[in-house]
Amino acid sequence: MNPSPPAGGDELLTRLRDFHADYFPRHQQRFQDLVANGQHPRTLFIGCSDSRLVPYLLTGAGPGELFIVRNVGALIPPYDGSRGWHGTMAAIEFAVLSLKVERIIVCGHSHCGAVRAAYEGVPEEARALRVWLELVQEALLPVRPSPEAQWRTEQRSVVLQLQRLMDYPMVRRAVEAGTLSLHGWHYVIEDGEVHVFDAAAGGFVAASQASSSGTGPYPPYVEHDGQIIAD
Ligand SMILES: [Zn+2]
Repeated sequence: MNPSPPAGGDELLTRLRDFHADYFPRHQQRFQDLVANGQHPRTLFIGCSDSRLVPYLLTGAGPGELFIVRNVGALIPPYDGSRGWHGTMAAIEFAVLSLKVERIIVCGHSHCGAVRAAYEGVPEEARALRVWLELVQEALLPVRPSPEAQWRTEQRSVVLQLQRLMDYPMVRRAVEAGTLSLHGWHYVIEDGEVHVFDAAAGGFVAASQASSSGTGPYPPYVEHDGQIIAD
């Protein structure tokens, strides 16, 4: 006997058909222009994979505007030139060298499971995840996990990833040439507001209070005792 279809029907298939029948006809020209002329996104958005972080909603961007990399924690691997399947590194190289993006946004968020897992540990079988989370280690605080520590660690991790980005030769070159800017964002899901890292202020400022969406370049900003410092 064939298994019966799920009670709600095939929801994904319904959504695929809706996109084709409803959204696409209204934006057809834009998609066809993007095929004819190629993509020229000005922004590389590196965000956590968390389902509650929706880059297009936050930025109001449409097709062709964001080159997106998402991974657990919005983490940047060190640029060590080693051989391997480094998806995030490859995307950064492509965005900067080929697409010549003008902005890189690193976007973490509140209640990030990657940060929580970095404190609490991961299942024994999750070997890759355990290694991956080493990329947030330096941002951890030597305190008992708390909502306050979680929030601060999420922000410190964003700054740490920006620093690692500056170790990518093509990123540093473009930042120093003034053709690329780096933006560190902490999205507070429950408030619907992004807090922007302000290098001059040495901390994060709510977008409603901020004078820009980001500043750069980024010399080291995280002290060994865990404080974010201005310089
Ligand atoms: Zn996350």
